[in-house]
Amino acid sequence: MAKLIILGSSNAVSSSDSENTHMILVGEERIVLVDCVNNPVHRLAQAGVDFMDVTDLILTHFHPDHVSGVPLLLMDMWLRGRKSLINIYGLHYTVDRMEQLMGMYSWENWPDFFPVAFHRLPAIEKSLLLDCEEFKIVSSPVRHLIPTIGLRFDFRMNNKALAYSCDTEPCVEVARLADGVNVLIHEASGAALGHSSAGQAGQIAAQAEAGKLLLIHYPTGEYTNGNLIAEARQNYQGEVSLATDFMTIDFS
Ligand SMILES: [Zn+2]
Repeated sequence: MAKLIILGSSNAVSSSDSENTHMILVGEERIVLVDCVNNPVHRLAQAGVDFMDVTDLILTHFHPDHVSGVPLLLMDMWLRGRKSLINIYGLHYTVDRMEQLMGMYSWENWPDFFPVAFHRLPAIEKSLLLDCEEFKIVSSPVRHLIPTIGLRFDFRMNNKALAYSCDTEPCVEVARLADGVNVLIHEASGAALGHSSAGQAGQIAAQAEAGKLLLIHYPTGEYTNGNLIAEARQNYQGEVSLATDFMTIDFS
C-alpha cells in the first residue's frame, strides 16, 4: 500500500482552502513528507496521518513557502516525546540553511532531542534519495531562483511512477525525470522567472509522455485566474487536473 496525499496545492500566497504546496507519501514502512509549511501537524491529522509517524522529510528548496514549518514540526515531535530518528534530505544549500535556522533557535539546548540525520544530496540528475521495499525516490536539480530539486517516485509493486517538478521554469531536467511516468505533478505558478505557466507544464508533460498531468502551486483564492486546465491541454493530449488539498493518488 502506498499513496500520495496532497496537503497543499497553492503557490506562496495561500488561502483558507489551499495551503502552500506540500505532500506526503504514505507507505507501510516509510512515511515521507515532501516539504513542510506552516504547522504541518494539523493538515497531516486531517489527512489521517499522525505527524509522529513521519520517517523522512524531503526539502525541495529553501523558500519559506516550502520549509517554514520545519522548526515547529521538529519542536512538536520533541515535545511529544519522539525518540526515533528522522531523515532530512536536501541539496547542500538547503540542508546547510536548515541547520543554521535550527541553530538560531538554539536547538542544541533542547534536552533529549531525538536523532536527526541530514542527507546532503548531490546536484546531479536522478540521484538516489531513498530506496526501500515499496518504492524508490530519486531527485534531479531543476531551474528555480535558488538550488531546487524535483522528485520521482517509482513503486515496485506495480511499476507505476510519479514525478513532481517542484518550483521550476520549464526544463529538460523535469522532462527526463518524468520520462514515462503515470502521473506528473507540475507547478503552474505562471510564466515568470523560475516558474512555469500551465501551458508550459503541458509542454513538459507531452515531452515526458506522462500518463496524466496534475497542476499544482498555482494562484488560489482571490488570485485565481484563467482556465489552467484548458491552457495545459493546448500542449498536452492526456488527462489534466488541478491538484487540490487532500487529493489522494493511490499506488497500491
Ligand atoms: Zn520557490
